[in-house]
Amino acid sequence: MHIELTDHLRCPREHAEAFLVLLPDRMDQRRVVAGHLGCPVCGWSTAWTDGTPDFGGGWRAQGEPPFDGGAAQAMLGVDGPGGWVALAGNAAALAGALATLLPGVSVVALNPPLEVTATAATSVILSDAWPLKVHSMRGVILGADAAAWREAAMLTTLPGLRAIGCGEPPAGDNVQLLGNADGVWVATHR
Ligand SMILES: [Zn+2]
Repeated sequence: MHIELTDHLRCPREHAEAFLVLLPDRMDQRRVVAGHLGCPVCGWSTAWTDGTPDFGGGWRAQGEPPFDGGAAQAMLGVDGPGGWVALAGNAAALAGALATLLPGVSVVALNPPLEVTATAATSVILSDAWPLKVHSMRGVILGADAAAWREAAMLTTLPGLRAIGCGEPPAGDNVQLLGNADGVWVATHR
């Protein structure tokens, strides 16, 4: 994972959002190849040596979403460098394509298909609990296999920016649905 992703990660355990402390063991430029992450609140920690932190219970998605990287970029509406975009489940199959289409934007792939590996532009995290802080991402895209995270995805997206998912759209007074067609929704905060 990219060292700067640390600022956007939260403890996966169910307590008030807390930052994680990174202890890098081995770096490849800005990528933490081996290291530890720990939570100062509850004592949770994880260690990795393959570039890919596993927060516990993560899975590797199968397949890909029903849209390509160009369509994902258009739905996100993200323009210009800086910040982060999160892709979860089989939507993370687009990580490489989006990293190419959005130069200067970093991509975090949660539980991506096996062929998605950590690179300079793409960080890979495996987790069964949502590991990203509120208002930390310029956009979030969920595959159908990550649909249970739609509320978390809405909260993680910066105000006014977009979350995208497959299946049932998110609901609530603060959700503005921008589009919902062919099983794909695009939403923002009201
Ligand atoms: Zn914790």
